[in-house]
Amino acid sequence: MRLIPIHCEACMRTALVSETALVNGLVACAECGARARALPGESYSEDDAVLFNDLVAMLREAAITPQNAAQLGMELDARSHENPGRGLRRLAQVLPSLGILELIVAHKPTPMRKAEGMLALLLDALASSRNRQSGFIPAAPTSAETQLKRVKTGEGEG
Ligand SMILES: [Zn+2]
Repeated sequence: MRLIPIHCEACMRTALVSETALVNGLVACAECGARARALPGESYSEDDAVLFNDLVAMLREAAITPQNAAQLGMELDARSHENPGRGLRRLAQVLPSLGILELIVAHKPTPMRKAEGMLALLLDALASSRNRQSGFIPAAPTSAETQLKRVKTGEGEG
């Protein structure tokens, strides 16, 4: 079974789903029910799912913003197929929490290359959400742009 990465722009979740779950490249997001889109170009085996999910969790914990993601993605663009690991090291310099990656991939060329490819994909998906960062995106489109903006006054807590 091939696993296809999907990205939900409503909740910024990236996950792997079975190829057969997709209908026209779309699938319901397991987290929020919105329609999530397949990310083009990559598919993984079930053995890759652990690494993929580790990377997703790591990026989530690091609270990567779309702007960060775009920047980090550029670091990875310079990654080398011949010399894998360089992109990971660059990333770990910017984001110390990613340093654990080196342990996960254990300095082996194949998993390092794989991790770099996955990170490039994940960062790209995050970066492409750049323009939708503010606020909640309703699952169903509203008929007109008549959404009221609520001003939240969350002060005085804690
Ligand atoms: Zn979602």
